[in-house]
Amino acid sequence: MDHLIDRAERALSLDLCDHCLGRLFARVDTGLSNRERGESLRMAVAWRRALEDRKPLPPHQRCQICDELFEMVPRFAQAVVEKLRSVEFDTFLIGTRIDPLILEKEERLWEMVGQDRAEPIKAEMNQEIGKAVQGMIPQEVDFSSPDVVALVDTRFCHVELDVSPLFIYGRYRKYSRAIPQTRWPCNRCRGKGCTKCNNTGKMYQTSVQEIIGEPIRKWAEGTDHFFHGMGREDIDARMLGNGRPFILEVREPKRRRLDLEALENEINMAGKGVIDVRDLRFSSRDEVRRIKLAIPDKEYRVRVQFESKVNKEQLDEVVQSLKRIRITQQTPARVAHRRADLAREREIKGLVLEEFDGSSATFRLRTEAGTYVKEFIHGDSGRTIPSLAERLGIPCSVEWLDVIEIADQN
Ligand SMILES: [Zn+2]
Ligand SMILES: [Zn+2]
Repeated sequence: MDHLIDRAERALSLDLCDHCLGRLFARVDTGLSNRERGESLRMAVAWRRALEDRKPLPPHQRCQICDELFEMVPRFAQAVVEKLRSVEFDTFLIGTRIDPLILEKEERLWEMVGQDRAEPIKAEMNQEIGKAVQGMIPQEVDFSSPDVVALVDTRFCHVELDVSPLFIYGRYRKYSRAIPQTRWPCNRCRGKGCTKCNNTGKMYQTSVQEIIGEPIRKWAEGTDHFFHGMGREDIDARMLGNGRPFILEVREPKRRRLDLEALENEINMAGKGVIDVRDLRFSSRDEVRRIKLAIPDKEYRVRVQFESKVNKEQLDEVVQSLKRIRITQQTPARVAHRRADLAREREIKGLVLEEFDGSSATFRLRTEAGTYVKEFIHGDSGRTIPSLAERLGIPCSVEWLDVIEIADQN
């Protein structure tokens, strides 16, 4: 490999600024900035030429690579700071779009003197604007998950913000048997509004997501919300007990320092009798991943009607035989149109008879995540084996079903 000074001298056959010269050797570990590297290399070249009685290089005038773009850094930083005033954030990162002509010229320079020690202009520009902005505001640079990325187009000194979503964790309970967990657009018009949906664009007028998400979106001044639940219950099942964990994601929030206690109160007032939330706290995309992967046991209370009279001793015996058992469930007929038809094994971890009057009964049961409880009761025409109906030899129907615990905390 050439001597660095030789390479620097070859690069200086073009008129280069100190940044563009120094950046060619950015990966030589000196603890210097690119500008300082450039400055010292230029001096080294000048010394050598003087010692060898060669004529000095012409003085630097205008950089043939960047056209003195680095002189603009304070103006870019000012534009970033002004733009950032429109949002709340604790951490930021700078990105830049550089004129493609400059990138082309930089590549030609690399071909001339080698690229192995070089850093692209974009990296240096990000760094320089970042340092300048850092000196003007108290918030910190964060490379891995900044609240906001300020994207500077260096051709027009134009700044665009890419605001990271806001994530809020909580647990919800649902007291209605008539609303779904997430918003459900009309399946005919897909949300535009038609006669089927009375021009609402929705299959259900509201949902757990909307009751929780709308106030949060408004407070955060965001554009939209997404709901990530740790599983979901059927529309006609209540969600009681300790509630179900969820994370509400707000896109493009302008505010992120929300008073979660006050927010919780507002949601609970609006949801009165339908849903409530608790334990609200700030969360992250990583936790969304964990929530989606969690497989907690669940506890249910289920009200069952028997098609004919049931003998108490026989029922007790059947309950005994089912209270710790593995069952096989073929995808239920009611969801087969949207899920693959598979057989899966699940464990019933507890079954207790709570009430019985001869023709109906209430059970409490604990199951492994992913168990279809209604099907375990009525048997789904033999698609779930064994089932309560099969063991009793009497058809059973589910009058109602409640989730009473999500066991994610033990
Ligand atoms: Zn330059
Ligand atoms: Zn419609």
